[in-house]
Amino acid sequence: MREGIHPQYQEVTVHCGCGASWTTRSTQKDMHLDICSQCHPFFTGRQKLLDIEGRVDRFTKKFGAQTVEQRKTAAKAAKDSKAKAAKKP
Ligand SMILES: [Zn+2]
Repeated sequence: MREGIHPQYQEVTVHCGCGASWTTRSTQKDMHLDICSQCHPFFTGRQKLLDIEGRVDRFTKKFGAQTVEQRKTAAKAAKDSKAKAAKKP
């Protein structure tokens, strides 16, 4: 091995947003992940809304909470008004 060109390869602790942590070896000093095999839906087998650092809250604040029914009604109203506009001439 040539001297002075290789990064330090040391033991690091990996921290996930779900609270899980484990050690591995890496050239990075420490790792913070958003998702890991303890909390990813693929491994847990259940659907889950991933609210990373309150992103869902920020979206709800900005656009308001929407339900499927509200969206369907709005889409139908838009379609009806379009159909009326097409019939006029
Ligand atoms: Zn996790």
